[in-house]
Parts: sequence; structure tokens; C-alpha cells
Amino acid sequence: MTGAARKETAAIILAGGRGSRMKSDTPKQYLMLAGRPLLYYSLKAFDDSGTDELIVVTGAGEEEYCRREIVEAYGIRKPVQITAGGRERYHSVYSGLKKAEGAEYVLIHDGARPFLTPLMIDEMIRQTREYGACVMGMPVKDTIKIVGKDHIVLETPDRSSVWQVQTPQAFRYSLIREAYDRLFEQENISVTDDAMVLESMGNHPIHMVFGSYGNLKITTPEDLLIAEGMWKIQSGNEQRKK
Ligand code: C5P
Repeated sequence: MTGAARKETAAIILAGGRGSRMKSDTPKQYLMLAGRPLLYYSLKAFDDSGTDELIVVTGAGEEEYCRREIVEAYGIRKPVQITAGGRERYHSVYSGLKKAEGAEYVLIHDGARPFLTPLMIDEMIRQTREYGACVMGMPVKDTIKIVGKDHIVLETPDRSSVWQVQTPQAFRYSLIREAYDRLFEQENISVTDDAMVLESMGNHPIHMVFGSYGNLKITTPEDLLIAEGMWKIQSGNEQRKK
């Protein structure tokens, strides 16, 4: 399907990474979790949420595979565009943003976070309509130290004001598009999340939205084992409720 009948909200789901820390020949978004590809879970959550359109950013050359083996195989019902990403995460986000043109709000999500729920997405959309720019996160549980290159502790930030950041991060489209357009005018780019890109413009507050400690990002083989365990417990709880 194309994005012809574009609506209010578009979700950009990132699956263009190589996942080198996963130590697997298969890109991590296609590894199996409880019998389904990791990427399926994010697509399903957005499909069941109030989002109008899905934009999946894959590795170059994986577009057809993704459409056939995930979007069509699992019957995703919402309009889906698939586009190739780039070398770094921010290149992939920019590809997705160009496809999302015309949407009023855009949610940017790591396809490597399979435990996002439609409820969390809908709350994010609600708060983004109100605040214009939101990130999902949780207060840190551990004390954090800022450490220098020589392993010397430099600083201990007050734990009550330190949050770990998750995705989705969601924005009024015009705000984040302008921030990314400006980012690509620079020479040395160093960004690890989308809110940072807006922060660097310094003219719009970013609202923190409670996520969940379960909104895990799968990065290493250990994370996949933890995710299998979490999935079993969650599906056991669902069974008991029935
Ligand atoms: O590498 P990391 O785990 O931080 O990646 C976060 C998300 O960004 C993953 O879902 C990954 O597929 C995506 N990504 C991407 N394009 C890249 C690098 C990462 O879409 N070049």
C-alpha cells in the first residue's frame, strides 16, 4: 500500500541496524522470539494502536523480504511503507522522516524493542498532541557515575533526576523534520537518539513520558534470553486471566 491516504500519525519503526553485538549472521530484527521475528512485535503493537500509518526502515535490499515475511505473513492491516535505512541510526531515521512527510505527528521506535504495547503508544500520542515533543523513559534504578577515559570517576549525578531513555520518541512532524534537516547541514554528527537532535536546537521543551522497565532493547544474545523468559511469564499471565 502507499501513503496516499495519509492521516494524523505515522510510526517510523527502525530495523536497519546490523546488530553486530548480537553475534549472529541474521540481522537481529529477524531473529526469532517465541516463534516470531523480533520485528513482528513492534509492528503488531503499532497495528493495534491509534497510529494511522507504519513506515518500516530496513537494511538496504531487505525491503521485499520484510514485506513478504513479516508485514504480509503476519497480516499487518494498516498502510505500511518500507524504505531502506543508512549507515547510522540517524541516517535511517532521516529516511523514515522523508517518507512520513504530510503526517502531523511522528513516533520513532527501535524495532529491537518488542515489549511496547498499544496502550503505551496511545498514551504517547495523547501526550505528544499536548506537548509537541515527548520521549519515553524510566527513572534509573542504579546510581550513575560519569567516568573519564582513564577510568577515574568524575561525577555522580543526583539519581532522582536521571532517567534512562527508551523509544518511542514522538514529535510534531515539522519540529523534528526541521531539527533533522539542520543536523544534516553539520560536518561532525554524533547523536544517539532523536530528542538529542531537537535538544541541540534548544528552542522546544521535551516532555518525559513513563515507559516500562520491561520495554527492553534487544542488543546482545543475553537480552534475547531475558526476552524469552519475560514473554513466557507474560503469556502465562494472559492464560491465567482467561
Ligand atoms: O544499534 P542500536 O541497538 O542502538 O539500534 C537501535 C535501533 O535502530 C534498532 O532497531 C536498529 O535496527 C536501528 N538502526 C537502524 N539503522 C542503523 C542502525 C540502527 O535502523 N544504521
